[in-house]
Amino acid sequence: MSSYQKEQTDALSMVHQYLASVFPDEKRELEFLAADYLLFRKDIDIFLSGYFGEICTQNCYQKSISACCSREGIITFFADVVINVLVSQKNEIEVLLKVLQRPNNGYKCIYLGENGCLWRVKPIVCEMFLCEPAKKKVFIEKPLALDKWDEFNKRKKMFTWPDRPVLFDILEKYFIDAGYSSPLMYMHNSPGLLRVKRGQEAGTYS
Ligand code: SF4
Repeated sequence: MSSYQKEQTDALSMVHQYLASVFPDEKRELEFLAADYLLFRKDIDIFLSGYFGEICTQNCYQKSISACCSREGIITFFADVVINVLVSQKNEIEVLLKVLQRPNNGYKCIYLGENGCLWRVKPIVCEMFLCEPAKKKVFIEKPLALDKWDEFNKRKKMFTWPDRPVLFDILEKYFIDAGYSSPLMYMHNSPGLLRVKRGQEAGTYS
């Protein structure tokens, strides 16, 4: 198992076990925290399937290119894991844990299954990735779509960019306060993001 797979396995098992053990009220509190983000993700899904569904199906899935899933180790934030576990069934998490046990000999993401991504709510980095040929085709033909995409990028920051209190930071802190730690807690261990947070504290970004 690679170090990437071990980090992913540890984070996934930790969150899965923790959420399976908490009182329903505590889980509901986390679901409440994530509710706006899930609406945001639903809006993006509608946008992507409307504007990019056809081109992605032709270029990637039918031709088996899947360029957006061709990295061996995609960046996942700890909050990505928490949100996905919150909305997944136990058997879906077990599938993820199982694939993480296998050696990844190909050049594809370990989470890429026969019918696409195995995550129910895939990591935000994946959701917001559009390959250049797809962007060129859609945004040149439909400039309004580009405006919408820019809007989505701004909305994404409201959840993920810690120049203000954001969901991705809050979820990490929630688990840190419960005594857990993970290398995927980038909001608490990435020098760049910590600098952004220090700017928030100093009022630079207000
Ligand atoms: S996590 Fe899912 S969407 Fe992201 S690269 Fe892997 S298979 Fe693709």
